[in-house]
Amino acid sequence: MPSVTPVLTPDRLLRQEVLALRAYPVPDSGGMVKLDAMENPYPLPPQLRDEIARLVADAAINRYPDAGAQSLKDQISAVTGLPQGMGILLGNGSDEIIQLLAMAVAKPGAALLSAEPSFVMYRMIAAFTGMQYVGVPLTEDFALDLPAMLNAIQRHQPALVFLAYPNNPSGNLFDADDIAQIIAAAPGLVVVDEAYYAFADASFMPMLARYPNLLVMRTFSKLGMAGLRLGFVAGSQAWLAHLEKLRLPYNVGVLTQLVVEKLLQHHAVLLQQAAQIKLDRVWLYERLAGMADVRPYASEANFILFRVMHAAKVFEGLKNRGVLIKNLSGSHPLLADCLRVTVGTPQENERFVVALRESIHQTI
Ligand SMILES: *Cc1c(COP(=O)(O)O)cnc(C)c1O
Repeated sequence: MPSVTPVLTPDRLLRQEVLALRAYPVPDSGGMVKLDAMENPYPLPPQLRDEIARLVADAAINRYPDAGAQSLKDQISAVTGLPQGMGILLGNGSDEIIQLLAMAVAKPGAALLSAEPSFVMYRMIAAFTGMQYVGVPLTEDFALDLPAMLNAIQRHQPALVFLAYPNNPSGNLFDADDIAQIIAAAPGLVVVDEAYYAFADASFMPMLARYPNLLVMRTFSKLGMAGLRLGFVAGSQAWLAHLEKLRLPYNVGVLTQLVVEKLLQHHAVLLQQAAQIKLDRVWLYERLAGMADVRPYASEANFILFRVMHAAKVFEGLKNRGVLIKNLSGSHPLLADCLRVTVGTPQENERFVVALRESIHQTI
């Protein structure tokens, strides 16, 4: 009898962790006021756009990119105030750097620890790199639960700890002394993820020299370059030299290198836009705080988390009125009935506030 080869299906071949994952959801936002993804809403000044157009026209896109990206790295070091003796590693967005760090430490049984709720990619990347994920709940007002964190560190001896500073989705900065204690107690690397550095007044960048197990990660996505995909991690060469071996040689494309370098030569323009967003964050927070049955949380980022009575209905109401934000209700017990709105232009914020009022009214 001829042997029958069983039909190959994904569940026979793929790793269990992969089968169990749900893809990072990206909703269709066509025609909407898009306030769901922490993007900078402002276009660049016309003169800068023209400069970029010329750069792109002359770019050698037939050649592989500069694998070391030295010129771009120098520009980043200059605008970042990178401490003496520290280096940087570039990623295709900081998501790629999270993945690279996880791959580097993922020995069997190794743990990745984070506070929860926080950036969902920490958990997803832990899952698909085969790491054990440990999520330690924040307190009810989204502060670090320091005793619980220290306890979990003691118990799980995590190879990696990720702390988003400010935190996404709550928007607050964790207590700096709490973070210092976590860095001191951690047996592995602690990565302070400063994706929202442009909107906050605090950073762990100056602390790099003090803690040999500290890395500081940033991205330019939230500053107005989400489409270019560039993030970096800063730290001592002792770590970066090994991590470089895992970086795929051409992970940052020619156009990204050229355009980000040009934009960082005009860093002040972007910081000016960030400053405007910070002002509008205050306006938006006050509107939310003034609404009955809405509880906003103070934010040091370019978004505001807020709690309502019937989040799913309010979210749908907003969508029906052409405003897309993020519904976080159900994603974590601490986020019950929570929604997150990105700070947009004053006109977009205005439209959001009007649509929110109507949506809340309609659900009563
Ligand atoms: C958006 C975000 C990132 C990832 O940004 P990239 O676009 O991949 O650079 C990382 N960490 C946090 C906390 C974020 O909110």
